[in-house]
Amino acid sequence: MTITGASLIAGQEIHGSQGGFEVVNPATGQMLETTFGQVGIAEVNLAAAKAAESFDHYRVTSPSERAAFLEAIARNLESARAEIVERAAAETGLASGRIEGELTRTTGQLQSFARELRLGEHQGIRIDRARPERVPIPAPDIRQRQIPLGPVAVFGASNFPLAFSVAGGDTASALAAGCPVVVKAHSSHAGTAELAGRAIAAAVIECDLPSGTFSMIFGPGASVGQALAAHPAIKAVAFTGSQGAGVALMRTAAARPEPIPVYAEMSSINPVVWLPSAAQTDTQGRAASFVASLTLGSGQFCTNPGLIFVPAVATDALDAITSAVRSSAGQTMLTASIRSSYETGVDHLRGLGANVAATGTPGETQNAPAPALFTVTSDQFLATRELQDEVFGAAALVVTYDGPEELRACLESLQGQLTATIHFEDADLPIAASLVPILERKAGRIIANAWPTGVEVCDAMVHGGPFPATSDTRTTSVGTLAITRFQRPVSYQGFPDALLPSALQESNPWALPRRVDGQLGA
Ligand code: NAP
Repeated sequence: MTITGASLIAGQEIHGSQGGFEVVNPATGQMLETTFGQVGIAEVNLAAAKAAESFDHYRVTSPSERAAFLEAIARNLESARAEIVERAAAETGLASGRIEGELTRTTGQLQSFARELRLGEHQGIRIDRARPERVPIPAPDIRQRQIPLGPVAVFGASNFPLAFSVAGGDTASALAAGCPVVVKAHSSHAGTAELAGRAIAAAVIECDLPSGTFSMIFGPGASVGQALAAHPAIKAVAFTGSQGAGVALMRTAAARPEPIPVYAEMSSINPVVWLPSAAQTDTQGRAASFVASLTLGSGQFCTNPGLIFVPAVATDALDAITSAVRSSAGQTMLTASIRSSYETGVDHLRGLGANVAATGTPGETQNAPAPALFTVTSDQFLATRELQDEVFGAAALVVTYDGPEELRACLESLQGQLTATIHFEDADLPIAASLVPILERKAGRIIANAWPTGVEVCDAMVHGGPFPATSDTRTTSVGTLAITRFQRPVSYQGFPDALLPSALQESNPWALPRRVDGQLGA
């Protein structure tokens, strides 16, 4: 596949004429080939209108047709593996091995939604058959299913150029639900975005789907992205990235004449708690694995453990963490501006009075700042709310605590998080049990004796949490449950079988799991 710099709008290649941009290799500073054309409002309108036009055709495809479409996208991505890996590594500074793994994860996500479509649980079939004999009033036949919301605008993140980008989980789950998708491609990995976009566009043709089922446009988030979210044809927004951009999209969506849901995954510092016995057990190993998780991918993970609570008496544990950070090295960050935000964040923590306990060494490539470790007491932590501000990158704050009451007060003060982690030994179990109800209120995933980086793609995963981790605490952006974000329930009352959609017909032609007359599996 050739990278041309064109937006892909409903099967057409349109080179935007509102200025061009190039992508820079963050490790070398070298400008990569291809100028990408930024589109304007006319192209946003075209992509949204084509998506709306395609909706009624696309949404009535059967589960197996949609599953075949997702599998075709996965195959097309796999066929372009070598090109995608090479371009994504150059655009992001991430190692090829990491990109290889991310591509496998991306195709795996598409396949898992194909499996979900065949299982059919997401269709939420509920049937209450008519009961004409009921007194004093006969009960009508009422049948419920989930239908797709309509065209979805997807905004990918810089830090996952594949799995949370053009063909990532948001796109896969929206397409699985039956929603056409318009992606606003991330400017920092535009070539990778185009390659993934081409894989989807080719699958649209292979599966004989309406052309507006998928579009991808290049342009600045603040203008083109905002216009897309404001377009009346768009019925939901899925976003992964910074809190500032996520909140801007939430405001736009809420201010529309017809407000729409925004599923934004934004900001989390992923607290880790070391309980007293754990802090004294395998201290060196625990510290080394903490710093490995902190510095993985230069700390550019939404699940990066940026906050760790350590008992004040456990000075050996603090020493072990400090020395592990001191021997760590920086790695290339995704863009020069993300590196600059990291340095601003580190300065901000220092300015708030956090003690600099250790810094690693900068990496040898460009944009590879040193990892950093700060310490504060629990009193300082409770007194200064801004200590909870996320520093995107390999920086962590250690909070030392004296006893369970101080620890609980700190945890109660936390904002919403994607994850919360407890490290404990058997002797810590009573305290651990007392923390779980607090952490359930704060986070979408609670982890025992492990690290938050590495999000499994599976049916039981929750990658979500209360604000500011996400804009909607009821959902997940990873795992098959993500499909439910793009659906809404409709009831059909008194319909004859011939008029019912296939999913609700009495003979159950799609063999869907159903709740019938109060019984599961009927
Ligand atoms: P981002 O800047 O929020 O960008 C994500 C997407 O949203 C991009 O497509 C971007 O467009 C678009 N966008 C930006 N501002 C917008 C606006 N006002 N309205 C609508 N769309 C907008 O996220 P990022 O590039 O992944 O990370 C950039 C900064 O966010 C980093 O410096 C980091 O500190 C912080 N951050 C990121 C994450 C994460 O998980 N990715 C988590 C925490 C913090 P463009 O392509 O034009 O930029």
